Amino acid sequence: MWRAVAKDAGNLYVPNEGEEPVAYLWARTVTCDTCGFEIPLMRSFYLADKSKRTVALRPIISKDQELELETFCPKAAKGAHARTIKGARATCVNCNSVLSPDRVRAQIKQQNGGGDVIFSKDGQRIGA
Ligand SMILES: [Zn+2]
Repeated sequence: MWRAVAKDAGNLYVPNEGEEPVAYLWARTVTCDTCGFEIPLMRSFYLADKSKRTVALRPIISKDQELELETFCPKAAKGAHARTIKGARATCVNCNSVLSPDRVRAQIKQQNGGGDVIFSKDGQRIGA
């Protein structure tokens, strides 16, 4: 299973130099009406939330306005970034604007549920 996923999706992710991916993350996205940023719809940024070991993703906006996710171990109980989708409202990770449920639903419907992502031959995302 892992090899099949790595073969199909591995070229879409750029690992840090010298590091091997151990998981791939997929999330539907909507576009922020205010700043145009592509918002990943994340119900949680936690990867593991156990009493002895908590691991979460920290969203970082690069200077190219690309979203990068960094793993870290939050020290506080609520140390991870707040979810970006709640009650069908999406919150932008870049500017904190909130998209109404109607706007989120309209974009998801337009994307056909977000399942038909189109990539160019070199792996760049070119369509919904
Ligand atoms: Zn925004």
